[in-house]
Amino acid sequence: MTQAQGAPPRTALRPLEDALAQLLGFARPLAGTHLVSTFDADGRVLARELVSPLQVPPQDNSSMDGYAVRIEEIPDEGVSLPVSQRIPAGSAAQPLVPATAARIFTGAPVPEGADAIVMQEDTQPDGDRVRILRVPGRGQWIRRSGEDVRKGDVVLPAGSRLGPAALGLAASIGCEQLEVAPRPRVALFSTGDELVMPGQVAPADMKPGAIYNSNRFFLRALLVRLGCEVTDLGIVPDRRDATIDALSRAAQSHDLILTSGGVSVGEEDHIKPAVQSLGSLDLWQIAMKPGKPFAYGRIKDAHFIGLPGNPVSSFVTFLLLVRPFLLKLQGGTQLAPKAIRLPAHFSLPRADKRREFLRARRTAEGGVELFPNQSSGVLTSAVWAEGLVDNPPGQTIARGDTVSFIPLAELLA
Ligand code: AMP
Ligand code: MG
Repeated sequence: MTQAQGAPPRTALRPLEDALAQLLGFARPLAGTHLVSTFDADGRVLARELVSPLQVPPQDNSSMDGYAVRIEEIPDEGVSLPVSQRIPAGSAAQPLVPATAARIFTGAPVPEGADAIVMQEDTQPDGDRVRILRVPGRGQWIRRSGEDVRKGDVVLPAGSRLGPAALGLAASIGCEQLEVAPRPRVALFSTGDELVMPGQVAPADMKPGAIYNSNRFFLRALLVRLGCEVTDLGIVPDRRDATIDALSRAAQSHDLILTSGGVSVGEEDHIKPAVQSLGSLDLWQIAMKPGKPFAYGRIKDAHFIGLPGNPVSSFVTFLLLVRPFLLKLQGGTQLAPKAIRLPAHFSLPRADKRREFLRARRTAEGGVELFPNQSSGVLTSAVWAEGLVDNPPGQTIARGDTVSFIPLAELLA
């Protein structure tokens, strides 16, 4: 197709979905697995499905403090029954003697023959007997064996990201250790001669043009949350030789080299030629805002990902591209964040031609509002935000329109 006369040259911006699909195509799950204590498995990805060897709960048990009874023996309220046994949690129960009640406590096994629990609030002690003040329904206050997990159930499939509840569930079926994917080994460095470290230079002594390195802090924290082993190589100066040196050292023993800054194609952007001199690199212009420049390459056996330098661009591209990449390296199966539909409590009269990820948060009225400054350098927006409004290219938004909101809780977990 020929371009219309006078039209500006078309820039080949790549849709985010395509970039993500291609990136995930490069992410082969890391070989091998590790056995870790269930205590230490928070945040790791399960390598093998977990099948339950038992029922949970193991036996029918009481969910109340009260009395175990046979309902046929309580045709009306006011029946008085002798108390034939006492069953605290953790003890074994004898079969229920006919025409008696058994004192029972929460979590204790229901005696054979009983078919309901009467909670103690519905009873009245009567010497060594108990008076039942309310006729019980069949099965009331009984937690059935296997109502949580049945023997042979897959309680957690392979590829599950383990969180606190999953650790508890694994423990409930007797797992002391879990087989998990290896931690990705990630080398991290920031580029930029303007960068200084907090603590290295006091705010009052900052030279003109200098800024503190903020990306290093959030990128490291994000990597740790994703279960990575991080080698932090600090700040690499904007020089070809220094960049090559850092990259070739990092490539030796890491699964991923992650950098921020220097992925544009200015004279001071050394990432592209440096990676190309050691391996291969593609510079992608992704049709997303913030974000656009993004680099993927390989140096020996290591993946290379270059994030943009602008803090919010770096943060958002990490969440939307690097996070699923790292989860896939660990064999994770839940890679896409779940968005929810909410009414806009703002308007966006001017749309961008790129897909935008606007820093936003929920309002008390059940809608979503935007941080006023959406510049890619304004990290305050990311702290203020509870999520990202995912706005399609070219889409204006009127107050009341339904928008797609990705909670940060989905992306930071
Ligand atoms: P670059 O991608 O290297 O052209 O950087 C784009 C913008 O992000 C510049 O304004 C940089 O000063 C800024 N920047 C780059 N790296 C960092 C960093 N680690 N922390 C804070 N700002 C950064
Ligand atoms: Mg730079």
